[in-house]
Amino acid sequence: MSLRVAIAGGGIAGLATAAALLRAGHRPQVFERREAGAPAGGAMMMWPNGMAALEALGVGARVHAGATAVREVEFRAQHGRALARWSLAELGHVHVVFRAALLQALRDALPCECVATGTAVVSARPRADAVEFTLDDGSHHVADALVACDGVHSRLRAQLFGAVPPPQLHQLAWLATVPHDDLVAIPHGVAIGSLGRGQRFCAARIDDARVFWYATVNATRRPSEPGVVALAQVFGDWHEPVAALVRAAEDPAVERVGPVELGELAPLRHWCRGRVTLLGDAAHACLPDLGQGAGQALHSAVVLAQCLGEGDDVATALQRYEQRRRRAVADVMRTSRLVASLSMSEAVHIASLRELVVGALLPTLGFPRIESIAAHARA
Ligand SMILES: Cc1cc2nc3c(=O)[nH]c(=O)nc-3n(C[C@H](O)[C@H](O)[C@H](O)COP(=O)(O)OP(=O)(O)OC[C@H]3O[C@@H](n4cnc5c(N)ncnc54)[C@H](O)[C@@H]3O)c2cc1C
Repeated sequence: MSLRVAIAGGGIAGLATAAALLRAGHRPQVFERREAGAPAGGAMMMWPNGMAALEALGVGARVHAGATAVREVEFRAQHGRALARWSLAELGHVHVVFRAALLQALRDALPCECVATGTAVVSARPRADAVEFTLDDGSHHVADALVACDGVHSRLRAQLFGAVPPPQLHQLAWLATVPHDDLVAIPHGVAIGSLGRGQRFCAARIDDARVFWYATVNATRRPSEPGVVALAQVFGDWHEPVAALVRAAEDPAVERVGPVELGELAPLRHWCRGRVTLLGDAAHACLPDLGQGAGQALHSAVVLAQCLGEGDDVATALQRYEQRRRRAVADVMRTSRLVASLSMSEAVHIASLRELVVGALLPTLGFPRIESIAAHARA
C-alpha cells in the first residue's frame, strides 16, 4: 500500500526518511521551515554504518565521490606529545563528508514537489485512521502517517509526549575549512585529534588545497568573544599545526561556522504516538563525540521504510520501527556520553586516564563497538 507520509523537517533525517519512503513506493511530503538554500556549513565524520545507510538510500556513490577517506587518526596532547595512532582500516573507511553536499545528495534523490520549504508544521494530532496536522500558514492537512524530524528542539516531540527534559548543553563547537599550505601540512588520509582539558581540536585533509577542522570547548568555558577569532585565546599556544589552523580561519574569506551549541537528550521512553513518530535528533540527539548522530538518523530512516513495508497497520509498523531502533540508539547515546566525559574532562586525573584509554583501550574496546553498530546497519 502506498502511504501519504508527512515529514516535519528537511534536515538529514527528514530528507533521508523521504528518500527511503519514496524508494519503498510511498508518497512522502517534507515540510521544512527554513527557506530553500539556507546555508549548511562544515563537515562531519561518516562511519561505515552511515555509509551503508546512504547506499541503501541510493545516494552512496554520489556521497562517496565527494567524501574524503580517513585511514588513520593521530592523537596528541595539547602541547604536542604523541598519545596514539589508530588505524581505521579494519572498520572499512571512515569518511569526512561536507554537510551541504550530503543534504544536496539527499535532496536530489527527491522530486521537487516532495519538499516544501519556508513551511513549518506547527501541530499534529493522530487519529485512529489518519493524522491531522497544521502548517504555519494556518492550513490543515491529513496524511496516513507523520514523521517528526524537527531536530533537537522538536516542537512536535513536546506536543506529543508532554514535557520531556530539555536537551542538556555540554559543548560549543567551531568548524572551518582552511587552505592547506606548508604551515599546516597534514598527510592525505590522516586525521589529527588533540586533547586538552575541556578542549579538543580535530582536523583532516580534504584534498590538495583544503583542511577541515573542528574545535570543541566545554560550554562552561565559553570564550569571551563569540567568533572564531576568539579561539586564538583557547588554542593559540597549542602544538602545530593546531595554532596555525586556528589562525588561518581568521581570514574572513574562510568558510567557518560557530559557536554551535552541542547538547544531548535524555533517552526517551517512547518515540511513537499512534500514526506519528520521531526520527533523528528529535528522537535521539546525542553528543557528537562518536560522530554518530547523522549516521543513526540515516539508519533509522532505512528501518522506518522497511517497517512500513511489512504489511501491518501504520501504528503497528511505527511501533516496530521504535522497537528495532530505540534501544540500539540509546546504547550509542550512552557510549557518546562516555567518550565525551573522557575526552572533554577538565580533571587532571581523568586527563591522565584518558591518555591511557586513547592509546590502548579505545581501539580494542571502542572499535568492536563501532563495528557492531555498523554490522547492525548492514543487517
Ligand atoms: C558540530 C556538530 C558536529 C557533528 N558531527 C557529526 C559527525 O561527525 N557525524 C555524525 O554522524 N553526526 C554529527 N553530528 C550530528 C548530526 O549533525 C545530527 O545528528 C543530524 O544533523 C541530525 O539531523 P536532523 O535532521 O535530525 O536534525 P536537524 O539537522 O536539526 O534538522 C531539523 C530540521 O527541521 C527543521 N524544523 C524544525 N522545526 C520544524 C517544524 N516545526 N516544521 C518544519 N521544519 C522544522 C529545521 O529547520 C531543520 O532543518 C554533528 C552535529 C554538530 C552540531
